[in-house]
Amino acid sequence: MIEPNLDLLVPAYVREFEPYIPSKPDPELQKLYGCDHLYRLNNNENPLGPPPGAQDVIRRFPPPRGAVYPSGDSYYLRQEIAACHGMEPDQVLVGNGANEVIAFVIKAFCGQGDNIITADKTFAVYEWVAVFSGIEARVIPLKEERFDDRAMLNSIDAATKVIFLCNPNNPTGTYWSRETLIAFLDEVGGRQIVVVDEAYFEFVEAGDYPDGMSLINDYPNLIVFRTFSKMYGIAGLRIGYLAGDLKVVDMIRRTCVVYSVNGIAQEAALACLRDETGHIRRTRDLVREGKEFLCAEMGAMGLPVNAGEGNYLIVKLPGSDTLAYRKLMHEGIMIRPMTGFRYPNHIRVTLAKMDAMEAFVTALKKILA
Ligand SMILES: *Cc1c(COP(=O)(O)O)cnc(C)c1O
Repeated sequence: MIEPNLDLLVPAYVREFEPYIPSKPDPELQKLYGCDHLYRLNNNENPLGPPPGAQDVIRRFPPPRGAVYPSGDSYYLRQEIAACHGMEPDQVLVGNGANEVIAFVIKAFCGQGDNIITADKTFAVYEWVAVFSGIEARVIPLKEERFDDRAMLNSIDAATKVIFLCNPNNPTGTYWSRETLIAFLDEVGGRQIVVVDEAYFEFVEAGDYPDGMSLINDYPNLIVFRTFSKMYGIAGLRIGYLAGDLKVVDMIRRTCVVYSVNGIAQEAALACLRDETGHIRRTRDLVREGKEFLCAEMGAMGLPVNAGEGNYLIVKLPGSDTLAYRKLMHEGIMIRPMTGFRYPNHIRVTLAKMDAMEAFVTALKKILA
C-alpha cells in the first residue's frame, strides 16, 4: 500500500493548523471524571431550552419527513426574519449555525494574500476559518477588555477584506455603543466589509447598544450575524443567519452550500421568532439573577469578576484555569477555561438556573480551599 504524500497534498496552512478538539459527550465525561451529574456551564446554552412553540415543532415533526430534503434556502424562515427586521428576504442567508455563515463570508471576500482583522480575546472561529483557509488573520489586542477601534483601523491595508466585531463580545461581555460603532463604520467608509456578530443580541439590556440590523440601510458594507443557539435555546439544531445589503448578500450566496440547514431547525426557528409567551423575558430574568448571585459570591471570595452583557461572565482565578477545569469536572461542573481565548487563569461561566449557580460556587470554594 502506498501512503498518500500528505506533505505534498495538503497546503502548509492546513498542515500547520492546530485542530480544535471538542469536548467528549456528557456520559463519557461523567465516566472520565467520576461524577453522576454534570452542570454544563461551558457553552452559554439556555437552560430553559427553546420557547414552547419551538418545543411543539420538535415534538410534532412528522417522522416520514425525515426522508424529504428541507427547503434549500430556508424559504419561509427568511421571510419571517426579513419581516422582523424590515428588510427583503433576499438580504438574509441562513446557515448551519452562525459558525457556518462565518465561512460563507470569508470564502466570498478573501483570496490568496488577503487578510481579515479581528481581536485577540474574542470568538475565535473568525480567526480559525481564515487561518485554515490560507488567509492572514490580524489579531488586534483588546484595550481595557474592549475592542481597540483605533488600532483596528490602523491595521487596515489594501489587502484587508473583512473586519469582524463581536457585539457584545464573547468572552468579555463588553459592547460597542451605537456611537462608537457608527464612528467606526464612518471611518471604514465602505472600503472593507464589517461583520458585527450579534450572537447575544437578545440578552443585552444596555440602552446605548445598537441594533446592527437597523444600520444596514446606511452602511451597505455591514453584515450582521444572529443565532438561534443562545437566547432561543436550539443550539442542538444548528441554525443561525446573516443579513446585509442585497448586492453584498447576493455575492455571499454564491459560497453557500444549499441544504445545510435541516427542516426541524427551520421550523423551530420560525416558532422561536413567533414566541409570545415571554421566553426572552424569562431568560433575561434568570440571567440577571444568576449574574447578581455570582458577582456577590465571587466578590466575597475575593475573585475579580468581569460581568457585562450576555449570559456569561468571567472569573479570574488565583491559578491555572485548565487545572481548575479538571478539578471542577470532578465536582460535576463544566466551565470554559480561557487559556484558549488567550486569557490564562480566567474561566467563563454560563449564567444558568440557581441550582447550577449554587453548585458552581460550592465546587469552586472546595477546589480553591
Ligand atoms: C455561540 C456563538 C456563535 C455561534 O453560534 P452557532 O449559531 O451555534 O454556530 C457565534 N458567535 C458567537 C460570538 C458565539 O458566542
